[in-house]
Amino acid sequence: MIVPYCHGLAKFNHLVQGNRMEDEIVDLSEEEKEEPWCSICSGFTDYRRKWTTVPRADLDGGAYSENMEIPHCVTCGSVMQYLKNCKRLVISVRILVILFLLLSALVFLYLYDPSVFSLLCLSVCLVVANVLNRLPRQSRQALLTHKIFMREQELQDAKKILQADKNITDL
Ligand SMILES: [Zn+2]
Repeated sequence: MIVPYCHGLAKFNHLVQGNRMEDEIVDLSEEEKEEPWCSICSGFTDYRRKWTTVPRADLDGGAYSENMEIPHCVTCGSVMQYLKNCKRLVISVRILVILFLLLSALVFLYLYDPSVFSLLCLSVCLVVANVLNRLPRQSRQALLTHKIFMREQELQDAKKILQADKNITDL
């Protein structure tokens, strides 16, 4: 039996099912809204979802594999990124790096008296922090290419406005 979609009924069901359901609905629509970004093509290109097995760690210290739908670019075939996830990952890594640097500075400059050895340890920590900061490579690349893309768009828009202004003054 085909039941026509009734907005009033949907609203009623929505109210009856409570907040938990509401959260799920909001989450789903947000996930649908975000388009994946291709760092290679520098654009929100057409994509195809492919099932990929991703290794995950469980709470018991073991590992299991999880099937995930990952968007692949139709044009170049590479894995695409969701910019929101990239931003979240890069920011959390950055916070970890800052905490690590603060902690190492505290240990090697405050707890121990500054010496050649403590300064050497601190410089090793700086190198480690730099490597850690660069670890989410794909996410960083996606954010960078998207930033460049947005700048180019702004530049093109500005050029269009200038051209329009010129056309008006020529008239
Ligand atoms: Zn691509």
